[in-house]
Amino acid sequence: MDESKMNPEKESVKILLDNFRAYIQMYREWGLEGVNVKLPDAVSVGAYGRTPLQKNAPEIGRNDVGATHASPLPTAVQPTIHSKTSLLSALRAEIGDCTRCKLHTGRRQLVFGSGNPEAELMFVGEAPGEDEDRQGEPFVGKAGQLLTRIIRAMGLPREEVYIANIIKCRPPKNRNPEPDEIETCSPFLRRQIETIRPKVICALGNFAAQTLLATGQKISQLRGRFHALPPSFSDGAAAGIKVMPTFHPAYLLRNPEDKKRVWEDMQMIMRELNLAGRVAGGGAPHPPATTQPGDLQ
Ligand code: URA
Repeated sequence: MDESKMNPEKESVKILLDNFRAYIQMYREWGLEGVNVKLPDAVSVGAYGRTPLQKNAPEIGRNDVGATHASPLPTAVQPTIHSKTSLLSALRAEIGDCTRCKLHTGRRQLVFGSGNPEAELMFVGEAPGEDEDRQGEPFVGKAGQLLTRIIRAMGLPREEVYIANIIKCRPPKNRNPEPDEIETCSPFLRRQIETIRPKVICALGNFAAQTLLATGQKISQLRGRFHALPPSFSDGAAAGIKVMPTFHPAYLLRNPEDKKRVWEDMQMIMRELNLAGRVAGGGAPHPPATTQPGDLQ
């Protein structure tokens, strides 16, 4: 149709639709998920499915928007902006090329966290080591490989959980994080937790457990039972999340005799998350038969 002959009302509807198409297109190009709105005519938004990291997660678009809309007018875009994936992306962007504490001078790159934003289980460690600093991903060195085997023995692919650290940048020579670094960095972990809202957080080692639980107690006293995430770490958005402290995988590499205790802690998590049925002999006192020989070695 010759647009110059459109009546003003039709013309303004067309402008509105054109703007909306451009808006949808922008979100698609930025890779934001959940824009699940059917457009009339030219632009087909398509069905937004799950990312590889969300294979067990609900489809964000459907959940957030509540329904697939065939209505010609765009009313349902905003909630999709708040999907967990996009909130985490926004947080990562906000942290940026961080110089908020002195650790930025010695790091190669910041290690934000990785995994499924819809995870029911989150692991929290201390800080990146050398391998993590090089690769930009948490727990990829020797201790990380052991952690991956522990997760698999629980019947989960690593991609199904979320893994992060209290501190996002490697301390020089892997020294312990200092109080000012924790104070500066832990609000970012808090926001990751409040966004993901896992059912269970497994705190790996003294440092993670003491920071998350705001206590000076040792990991050997804390492990073996669930703790509530205290309000001091979360103002309420993360209420009800259970924390299971356990030994750090790096400690386990030096003290393999304590693997049995870690496995007991993992079994408690598996029962809490109903994972026991996913592994042969689920909930067995030792890593199940499906675990490869030496998996937890
Ligand atoms: N140790 C940690 O606490 N975190 C990592 O990411 C790697 C090793």
